[in-house]
Amino acid sequence: MPKPVLKIALDVPLDRLFDYLSGGQSVEIGQRVLVPFGRSSQIGIIMGKADTSDFPIEKLKPIAQIFADEAPIDIETLNLIKFSADYYQYPFGQALLSALPARLRQIAPAVSRKQYAYQLTDFGRAQTIEQIPKRQLVTRRVFEALQAAELITEAALDAISSSARKVAKHLVAQGWASSQQVQATIKTLETSAAIEPQLNEEQALAVQRITQEAQIFKPWLIHGITGSGKTEVYMRLMQHILQQENAQILVLVPEINLTPQLESRFRSRFANISLVSLHSNLSESERLHHWQLAQSGSAKIIIGTRLSIFTPLPNLKLIIIDEEHDGSYKQQDSMRYHARDIALVRAKRLNIPVVLGSATPALESWHNATANKYNLLSLNQRAVTAAQLPNIECIDTTKVNLQQGLTPQLIAALKLRLARKEQSLLFINRRGYSPVLLCTACHWIAPCMRCSSRLVVHLGQRKLRCHHCGHEQKIPQQCPSCGDADLHPTGHGTQRLEQTLAQLLPNARIARVDRDSISRKNALVEILDKVHNQEIDILVGTQMLAKGHDFPNLTLVGVIDTDSALHSPDFRASERLFAQLMQVAGRAGRADKAGQVIIQTQFPEHVLFNALRSQDYVSYANAMLQEREQVQFPPYVFMALLRAEANDFALVQQFLNHAFKLARGFNADVTVYDPIRPQMERLKGMERGHILMQTANRTALQKLLRNLVAELRGQTIAAKVRWTVDVDPLEF
Ligand code: ADP
Ligand code: ZN
Ligand code: ZN
Repeated sequence: MPKPVLKIALDVPLDRLFDYLSGGQSVEIGQRVLVPFGRSSQIGIIMGKADTSDFPIEKLKPIAQIFADEAPIDIETLNLIKFSADYYQYPFGQALLSALPARLRQIAPAVSRKQYAYQLTDFGRAQTIEQIPKRQLVTRRVFEALQAAELITEAALDAISSSARKVAKHLVAQGWASSQQVQATIKTLETSAAIEPQLNEEQALAVQRITQEAQIFKPWLIHGITGSGKTEVYMRLMQHILQQENAQILVLVPEINLTPQLESRFRSRFANISLVSLHSNLSESERLHHWQLAQSGSAKIIIGTRLSIFTPLPNLKLIIIDEEHDGSYKQQDSMRYHARDIALVRAKRLNIPVVLGSATPALESWHNATANKYNLLSLNQRAVTAAQLPNIECIDTTKVNLQQGLTPQLIAALKLRLARKEQSLLFINRRGYSPVLLCTACHWIAPCMRCSSRLVVHLGQRKLRCHHCGHEQKIPQQCPSCGDADLHPTGHGTQRLEQTLAQLLPNARIARVDRDSISRKNALVEILDKVHNQEIDILVGTQMLAKGHDFPNLTLVGVIDTDSALHSPDFRASERLFAQLMQVAGRAGRADKAGQVIIQTQFPEHVLFNALRSQDYVSYANAMLQEREQVQFPPYVFMALLRAEANDFALVQQFLNHAFKLARGFNADVTVYDPIRPQMERLKGMERGHILMQTANRTALQKLLRNLVAELRGQTIAAKVRWTVDVDPLEF
């Protein structure tokens, strides 16, 4: 006789399970069910079975439906999510349900969409690539792939480009190709396996050391400058692990933009291995399909962004975290987890290796490496022997005449690249036309009414826009404060830089990459394709451009105005800036051409730039760590924030004062600071405040938070504000 009471996790903001009756059906832990809840129904996951309940049995309701065809979520995954929910002080049911693909949170049974595969028709086989215009790059690539392989699945098409499916359908409409329905398994593009380069000494050592201890939990930190061949090391490790039968490998990448690139490199190396990606750019049905392939064990390589750390993987044998320092591994709302930290926990529990890679490791990771908690492996040379490190110079903007914000040196360097038919990249971390609209008569600056921020001028649309809340308004004709008509867009953003360049270098082909220009799904891929085809001379863009992209003909990088980060009150600002600049500098001179980096700054002698010029991450990291130790900042202490916001600041104050007293009362081992306002005092119309808690004793902090949250939940004062706990916060 099955146990009558089921303990079920639901997506509700209460940290408890809910009791339902099984109705005599036999069920398993981890199975998905539908249950009545209030006046509607909810999807839940079975977490336990019992003979009794704290509630009178006759008052319990039976579950409405079991999704018996679906595989239950395994215990390892459930436990990992439980651990995370506890650590980040988030209700377990919400954490669990939000880790699932959207389709599994919906009430309909989760059926994967039918999969299709494509092949050339006889007519298609009679055609040649020359018949496809050169501009239609994706079409050409799809056609070539179809010529090379018998049958191409949708997954393989996705690896070519995110618009490849549409192209394939178009080829069918033209009679060049035909489609057929296939089993929902993945068959990858059968390219001839890419040629493996001979590893250099450092790479070989890294591979050897890790493979020697590939059967146990060990965290490895690969510190390798850009282009030092970290990805090659990952691939050798993967090869080694994949020799074990059924082994699965999880590769975490910071952003969706980077997955297609890594994915196609992996696909051409591991031509016969099933590989799936998991990120938010997939359609809901694709995401479900990929997730299920991971869960069933049939996908062997899983490339994903932060959420994929919670994917059920029955045979996980290795976790790789590329660009491990990247801030996007930290979730900034709901459960504020850090995917890298969770990856370490998961690897430890499974007793498998975890490999972190970066050119500029997070100070937390560097600290762990110097303390021998992580095993450090260094790649100090660029892998392609001909590739030289770029020459980095700082130009003092106070000592030269700027032309629209550009130094004569940078303009001359751009002209030289144009003459040599080489490419340039200008990095400016500010989108829009100019960051402020200023009244020259009274110094009024257009503010956002909903945030403590200024409105950014978007001249093309003749709008002022808040980059924090999205508020938008027309550019005023005259100053609202003094009536003067002399309003000036002041300072430079990507749009203005693009315009300036077009004026200065009328023959240059310029492309801008920022969140405004890349809002369409494939816009970035298209621009990057153009860069590769030498159809672009100058790229202007934000940090979106800094990462991962490999442009062999790009020999100049210009950095415009990053000085504000040098003097930011955020103690992590310089760490982030250094990482960013190392990364953009790494874009210059990747192939056989020497690169040049020009940084425009008012502070050319700043220590950060000195470290950058000598490309010396290690001394800079050590210096920053020393500073952090002196002032007792992370990684030398652990922090947590209690954040609160409300329309009325009085409520925030009341709540925080109350929480402050509670927190102070709990534990002497944790320093609880007075409530303060964050730098961004108002955001999206909400008044904000927070309490910082800090300690060298992580367990004490965890205990305090657990007590504090338990007390606060359900108190009326807490119901009047929106409050959240942020453990190991990255932003303040
Ligand atoms: P990273 O990930 O550290 O930036 P990559 O793995 O992308 O570096 O390598 C940079 C370039 O060097 C790539 O084009 C790669 O194919 C090449 N490469 C990597 N290892 C070697 C090697 N041992 N010999 C020759 N080329 C290599
Ligand atoms: Zn004015
Ligand atoms: Zn705003």
